[in-house]
Amino acid sequence: MKKALLALVASAATALTPMGAAHAAAPHPATAALADTVRTPATPSYTVNLTSNSSGSTWTGHESVSFTNASATPLTEVYLRLWDNYHGSCPSTPITVSNVTGGTAGSLEVGCTALKVTLPSPLNQGQTGSIGFDLSIVVPAGVDRFGRDGSYNFLGNALPVLAIRDGSGWHLDPYTNNGESFYTLASDFKVTLDHPSSISVPATGTSVDTPGSSGRTVTTATANQVRDFAWGAGPFGLVSGTSPGGVKINVYRVSSISSSSANSMLSVAESAIDAHSGRFGAYPYGEVDVVLDNGYWFGGMEYPGFVLDLVSSTALAHELAHQWWYGIVGDDEYNSPWLDEAFADYSTDLYQGLSGTGCWNNVSWASSAEKITNSMAYWDAHSSRYSTVVYSYGKCALHDLRRLIGTTAMTNLLRTYAQSHWYGVSTTAEFKAAAQAATSTDLTSFWTQHRIDG
Ligand SMILES: [Zn+2]
Repeated sequence: MKKALLALVASAATALTPMGAAHAAAPHPATAALADTVRTPATPSYTVNLTSNSSGSTWTGHESVSFTNASATPLTEVYLRLWDNYHGSCPSTPITVSNVTGGTAGSLEVGCTALKVTLPSPLNQGQTGSIGFDLSIVVPAGVDRFGRDGSYNFLGNALPVLAIRDGSGWHLDPYTNNGESFYTLASDFKVTLDHPSSISVPATGTSVDTPGSSGRTVTTATANQVRDFAWGAGPFGLVSGTSPGGVKINVYRVSSISSSSANSMLSVAESAIDAHSGRFGAYPYGEVDVVLDNGYWFGGMEYPGFVLDLVSSTALAHELAHQWWYGIVGDDEYNSPWLDEAFADYSTDLYQGLSGTGCWNNVSWASSAEKITNSMAYWDAHSSRYSTVVYSYGKCALHDLRRLIGTTAMTNLLRTYAQSHWYGVSTTAEFKAAAQAATSTDLTSFWTQHRIDG
């Protein structure tokens, strides 16, 4: 997400239920070192069939997901993240999962955003499981990443997705409205959306429309190697184009945004997606849907192949950079938000030809505990400093790194770093190692001065 324009949601996440004991579960000591690097359940494949009401503000149907245990530690359960239940009043929730098959559902946890499903028998390494459930989604009012602006609905994080278990146990972090908690492995999605033909459904992936029952259309969206699936629903205006590099761009707009603004944003998207592709590796998903509404309280929000945005060229370039930093190169957005936000802002500067000259001269730390690499737990408690430190100091640190190791080395670093984590997950330690490998200069004091720990 691009930083909020108005700090009207500060500390909202503090109302959430603390994490349960499951989060602290540790692997057997003998396997801890190995398990540290193994994230599971792996290779999730989602199949979703949903039908909307007449306005696209409620959706009901079925979701199933298959997965493989990649870890030597048996998998006895999985967790679904029902992120948008943050937008309800737990236990009254906008996302309802019922009739679970393939496992036994527990009670909702973590402010109704997590649901444990115990598998009928443990999965050993390499074994595959599958669960299914009925799903109901009710979009609340509010121009938000999960919300409704009059006739227009935005469904970010509405589909339940699998949490990750690694050597630290299950990642069951709380939702944060100041940024993102979303942490998933690259997955395949096949989603059918049965909706009135009078509304369109911009979505992650590539879509094919077929006729439904009278007055309705069934849109089938397919997306491979993506971390999430988001869509919109409403009578959007649409302009489309193809970048010189061959990426299809669809710009959807609410009725209060002019077609000339949409065309201007189409041009930005076409040039930005190609610029990022040239620097970090070709955009692999073929298509991007941009959904414009100037009512969002944030600058924009990233999903794979799908971004929400104000009419702002800077915000749009930033959200499109997230296609690489968070999307293609995954990260734990709750524990290491700088890995996607600072990198997206730095990429935006490169696209706009900005070099951050002298930017580190303006750095002033609020405390000895303040670091670029702090987690959202810290930023939710210090929300007024989040954008300054993570976005601004973070991107400035990357400019400084470029100045220290040289432009050629920095260019090669970002490209090879992206390629070595393509569809995978990166960590601060891995970025630091990649940066050190790109230069003969000892970076130890650089990391200390720039407060990049990990
Ligand atoms: Zn962002």
